[in-house]
Amino acid sequence: MPFLPFAQPDIDETEISAVSDCLRSGWLTTGGVTHRFEAAFAAYIGASHAVAVNSATAAMHLALEAIGLRAGESVITTPYTFAATAEVIRYFDATPVFVDVQPDTLNIDPVQLAQVADTLHRQGRPVRAIIPVHIAGHPCDMDAIHQIAERYELAVIEDAAHALPTRYAGRLIGAPWREGTGEQGLETGNSPPATRNPQPTTRNSPPTTSHLQLATCFSFYATKSLTTGEGGMLVTENAEIAERCRLMSLHGISKDAWKRYTAEGSWYYEIVAPGFKYNLTDIAASLGLAQLAKVERMWLRRQAIARRYDAAFAQLPSLECPTVRPGIQHAWHLYLLRIHPERLGIDRNTFIDELKRLGIGCSVHFIPLHLHPYYRENYAYRPEDFPIAAREYQRAISLPIYSKMSDADAQRVIEAVCSIAQQHRTH
Ligand SMILES: *Cc1c(COP(=O)(O)O)cnc(C)c1O
Repeated sequence: MPFLPFAQPDIDETEISAVSDCLRSGWLTTGGVTHRFEAAFAAYIGASHAVAVNSATAAMHLALEAIGLRAGESVITTPYTFAATAEVIRYFDATPVFVDVQPDTLNIDPVQLAQVADTLHRQGRPVRAIIPVHIAGHPCDMDAIHQIAERYELAVIEDAAHALPTRYAGRLIGAPWREGTGEQGLETGNSPPATRNPQPTTRNSPPTTSHLQLATCFSFYATKSLTTGEGGMLVTENAEIAERCRLMSLHGISKDAWKRYTAEGSWYYEIVAPGFKYNLTDIAASLGLAQLAKVERMWLRRQAIARRYDAAFAQLPSLECPTVRPGIQHAWHLYLLRIHPERLGIDRNTFIDELKRLGIGCSVHFIPLHLHPYYRENYAYRPEDFPIAAREYQRAISLPIYSKMSDADAQRVIEAVCSIAQQHRTH
């Protein structure tokens, strides 16, 4: 039996010919195809603006730049996430403030979030944003998060790297949360106290408003539910934020290459801020357009695999299937199984070793950030500072779940997991 990899992209002839067409067109970097990808992605999500970038990390960095995050300010997120979510805060010499997760979804706990936001507020520490992470593709409690964001005037920048297509309250993650938020929020004075951003607001300085649902950041990394190899998308309802992110994604240059080098453009451009090099190529975007056309079909396949897994694992008391709260749609980017080591007599690492021996690739999402040397040493964290994240990490296993898997592949995973669980029963 060949080894079943943990993840594999769903690439077929449509993607291959789309990329070939791009290569033959003579235009490789950001251009018409990228703009079509942005428009198609915004239309699919139901968002007003989409800015294509070369990673979700870039998208989150740009969103924080767009709110004018400054050194010494704080941004709240959870430790149960990938490196990117907190490192983008550190890019500004700002402080990531972690809030522990809920034991069922592994998403940020809104009760503790409210407590932390309140404590920071009382201490007079400037907090600018919350970055909720929709772990595995299960949505965060956005109702509660938006309420807290509103109370403390925090921008909500969603790490939606796993959340395509996730639905919450009937809407895709990334779609406008409430009619009239976004741009209208700017005009109606839903902005932080003037003292927070004393620098003058000019066209060339970042927008200084922070408000609800500032931006949602998707990842098109190779293992994600839509891939462009490397890539990402920032969606927002706020035209000013979209414009700032677009500008900063390409050197802070006021016109992009498409306009500069094509017939309707000219050689002239202006640098209005020291930007970044975060643009997506047309090669990647052509792959993205082909992937977007089948994003629902790929999701249906992952959902079918998740249902098979659930049905098989629900019978075994040493295994815990992922939570799916009522009224939401799980994107099933990950199938995050949890084991009860005390009922098995083996730990998670041994479980993974045995799966590997049976030819099944798997992974662990995530090693909580506060356990990593950088955060441990610089912020003096102990594992028990975020006890749920630390505990759940110890029993988490991500199983293969991707649309290229056959029924036989899924069955192999089920048999391997069940045989290990049955072999190691302690009772
Ligand atoms: C993959 C991932 C990212 C980063 O995405 P890139 O596109 O690789 O920058 C961010 N957050 C989470 C939770 C991820 O899994």
